Amino acid sequence: MSSFSDLSVDGLIRHLNASVSPAHSVEYSAARLRTAGFVETSFGSLKEDVPARGFIAEAGLLLAWTLPQQSTRQFRIVGAHTDSPCLKVKPLPDAGSFGWKQIGVEVYGGILNNSWLDRDLGLAGRVVLTDGTVKNVRVDQAIARIPQLAIHLDREVNDRGLILDKQVHLAPIWGLGQYRPGEFADFLSEHMSVSSSDIAFWDIALYDLTPASLLGQDLSLLASGRLDNQVSCWAATEGLIAANSIDLSGDTASVFALFDHEEVGSESTHGASGPRLAWLLEALHTGTRTEFHEALSRSHCISADNAHAVHPNYPDRHELAHRPLPNLGPVLKVNANQRYATSPESAEVFLRTCDLAGVPHQVFVSKNTMPCGSTIGPITSTQLGIPTVDVGVAQLSMHSARELCGANDPALLAQVIARYFAP
Ligand code: ZN
Repeated sequence: MSSFSDLSVDGLIRHLNASVSPAHSVEYSAARLRTAGFVETSFGSLKEDVPARGFIAEAGLLLAWTLPQQSTRQFRIVGAHTDSPCLKVKPLPDAGSFGWKQIGVEVYGGILNNSWLDRDLGLAGRVVLTDGTVKNVRVDQAIARIPQLAIHLDREVNDRGLILDKQVHLAPIWGLGQYRPGEFADFLSEHMSVSSSDIAFWDIALYDLTPASLLGQDLSLLASGRLDNQVSCWAATEGLIAANSIDLSGDTASVFALFDHEEVGSESTHGASGPRLAWLLEALHTGTRTEFHEALSRSHCISADNAHAVHPNYPDRHELAHRPLPNLGPVLKVNANQRYATSPESAEVFLRTCDLAGVPHQVFVSKNTMPCGSTIGPITSTQLGIPTVDVGVAQLSMHSARELCGANDPALLAQVIARYFAP
């Protein structure tokens, strides 16, 4: 294990608290890689020089790799995603009524609407200035809140269920008085110490200010926003760093790809359907086109994304024999309809790696009446032709503003990934 790696739960909590947006997650992981000796480069520079241990960071996308001393004959890849469902600030967000100032927000991905109510919210994301520079921005203070309607004004809510209109009922308040067009941009520019005319555009979202914390009478659980899928981003980063000191005399390149936009279908420049990972693999491989395709067919990919633990209050939602629990190890996800990319062959590589790492595993398949979500696994396997296995840490409350998982599982996943990268 590399002395730079940190598989402690405190390290994970630092990662979660720093990763308040995809760009912040990339920034934090990139800093970890830099500390461990990885060299930052860009697609524009790969033609001249490919560092043996390098990374490329672009907005919400992070690609990192370790090359063998011999020429690369196969790849081992871990894929995950940096984005989480949230509320994004609209381009012209200033709004309000009846003496309240509000921020116009657009729902990003499949949020659990109710989980965003009555939380103190900060702001995080990227701002592009008129000279083209990009800045990560974080307002780490309670500036907004979506207040729930009082029970006295909604007497049937507990019997009828809470129904929220995404356009009408999720607009946060952030002040009192008559709103003014341009007020949000002014607030942002003041926070950034630039003039508001310097701001060209932004990609900013609200986030829950509550920091990640251990939970339970024995502190065996971990509560945080964005566990899906920061847990996998952290495990991929620390796993590659941990494997950094391995003997590189083989012919396998280790790569991880942390994509943006998984929660909205992955079809973007920095999403898993975009071309960036394929570009990187081509640049890392020095042989002919045919040899490159041979290398891809010999390769293997772990698509890491969280899984559903069985909920004690809703046990009927799980298939009887496949009910994952926290702290019993990573979950192997299987779906006959290829919503997960797992095949018998790709599963075998993962199971063998778990055994080598001394890490237990669980298996998940959804009920026939409960279709599962998908991951980047089927996308990368379809586009690159690389056998892929879908795995992830078991959690509750997926897509809530605050999710829950076992405190030990993320490190178990990181141990498997470290072993995977150091076969
Ligand atoms: Zn996910």
